[in-house]
Amino acid sequence: MASVISETELHNRIEVAYQLLERCRVCPRECGVNRLKNDKLGFCRSGLNPVVASASAHHGEEPPLSGTRGSGTIFLANCNMRCVYCQNYPISQMGNGVEKTPAELACQMLWLQEQGCHNLNLVTPTHFMPQILKAWGLARERGFALPLVYNTSGYESVEALRLLDGIVDIYLPDMRYSDDRLAMLYSIAPNYVEVNRAAVREMFRQVGNLVLDEHDIAKRGLIIRHLVLPGGLSGTEGVMKFLAEEISKDVHISLMSQYFPAYKANEFKELSRRTSTGEYEEACRIMEKYGLENGWEQEL
Ligand code: SF4
Repeated sequence: MASVISETELHNRIEVAYQLLERCRVCPRECGVNRLKNDKLGFCRSGLNPVVASASAHHGEEPPLSGTRGSGTIFLANCNMRCVYCQNYPISQMGNGVEKTPAELACQMLWLQEQGCHNLNLVTPTHFMPQILKAWGLARERGFALPLVYNTSGYESVEALRLLDGIVDIYLPDMRYSDDRLAMLYSIAPNYVEVNRAAVREMFRQVGNLVLDEHDIAKRGLIIRHLVLPGGLSGTEGVMKFLAEEISKDVHISLMSQYFPAYKANEFKELSRRTSTGEYEEACRIMEKYGLENGWEQEL
């Protein structure tokens, strides 16, 4: 696992990360609000303390993450995207959760380790990166040593990601779109394609391709999640071309079929149905066409 950075280095990183909260530029939105003072909220509606929706062993993640003992999942509330079809909208958009101090978050990390989980899986961590870094430092002082999984929508700033170099073991980003117009329409995410791809490049630079241990449990590396939307809206061709040509043909891809019209999706006719078998199979064919063979496809 990647927790090789020194105490001094970690302390410096936490300090720099907290400075990002002052005129918030923790993520690419750069809202500029002062989250240290908690007086005004930015796009993600998050203040100084992290908000946690749940902490538990999760058995439904990709096989090398869930393994036999589960992935120690902490769901952070709120999000820096606004996907109209979000299946976790009570957490991501309505903010359902409980405010925790970094010390309390550290206790949850340690508790998941005590449960025997294979890793710590931070879901939607982006907007709370500084607080997570601080909590992780506190947990490490008390013996926390699980691999860290950064399970993100992929709308990340490279500057923020650099602070996680040598700390995050496994990056698990979404690649949602290949068309900025659709990213804006469905997720209010300006310049998504360039931002998302720059983030994936940085993640790959840090951790490389997936490495498993002798029990097929993930130790380190990049896993891309691509949710196949109906009507080709997720731009699978563009995503796979980018991965094959600019990341690696050996990259692991989790091709997800579970789209259903949640939250506000029914306000958009094109999103108001499930992805068809034919559309999912077409996405599989595109992966194969680009020589991308590692990862997981799902049953429809
Ligand atoms: S983390 Fe939140 S407040 Fe900060 S820039 Fe991103 S959306 Fe805005």
